[in-house]
Amino acid sequence: MSFTRRAMLAATPTVAAATMTNQVFAQAQSTASAAASGSRQAPGFYRFKVGDIEVTAINDGVAPRSVEGFIRNADINDVKKALRDAFLPETGYQNSYTTLVLQTGGRTVLIDTGNGDSGPPTTGLWMANFRAAGFDPAQVSTIIISHFHGDHINGMRLKDGTAVFPNAEVMVPAAEWTFWMDDAKMAQAPEGLKPGFNNVRRVFAPIAKDVKQYEAGKELVPGVTAVAAFGHSPGHMAFTIASGNSRLMMMSDATNHPALFVKNPDWSAVFDQDADMARATRRKLLDMAASERVQVSLYHAPFPATGHIARDGASYEFVPVQWTPMLL
Ligand SMILES: [Zn+2]
Repeated sequence: MSFTRRAMLAATPTVAAATMTNQVFAQAQSTASAAASGSRQAPGFYRFKVGDIEVTAINDGVAPRSVEGFIRNADINDVKKALRDAFLPETGYQNSYTTLVLQTGGRTVLIDTGNGDSGPPTTGLWMANFRAAGFDPAQVSTIIISHFHGDHINGMRLKDGTAVFPNAEVMVPAAEWTFWMDDAKMAQAPEGLKPGFNNVRRVFAPIAKDVKQYEAGKELVPGVTAVAAFGHSPGHMAFTIASGNSRLMMMSDATNHPALFVKNPDWSAVFDQDADMARATRRKLLDMAASERVQVSLYHAPFPATGHIARDGASYEFVPVQWTPMLL
């Protein structure tokens, strides 16, 4: 199957959405990167160190998020103003997806896996970026999942059923497993949540007996400890990644875009399953990060999605890290 760059540029997003598979998109990406200039960025991976642990942030692309109906408890004009203040289009923004690869204790560990070939057409870049960073899916020894929303688990299994990481043990939050694998919960769920239940079964059913369920407070692999961050989903987890005197807090989806939810920690996005709990979790983690001056990674922050949290009155500010060519 051939899909030239010219054809790709000519295709409307809707046509592209209908026709583009993960492989084709990756192919299109490499074609584009071969040109002297073009419509694409350099591969989306970014490395940094946390003590002896090497961290590689891997981007899975972006997808447009409209402000219409997005935040339950804020006036839409306030949402538009927050975007304008961040020099973003007030109609919405590009929601970004960034997972972490950790090299720790001789293992290659993933925290979440991106959209795979199941996401919007401007996602699905994860595998090309992972390979560009020098990794191979067969070398992944452990996958730690933060929660069961599709943009975090679909990278594990292609739509045709293929398992993407043949040698990886899979660790999932026990409370996520209990909620999403419960047939009674699925039957009671609002229509909008049912596809999520079906997707969890699609991804996990073939490996159900091998999946390891974990609790908060457990060290999952050397240096990585789960932190309860419930609310966005029933068993949603953040992580502390520690080595020597260095520490990183992976906040997962405790906030979505920082210009909205770090700035306005009490705002509730439509996809926070328990809005009050999600708000309390967000405030707790932001407060901890600001007080302890610990570096954070946020799954949905602009790439490379890592920086610090500064206090700003009752609110907070996300301050991205300074890029360096060498690992410090
Ligand atoms: Zn997410």
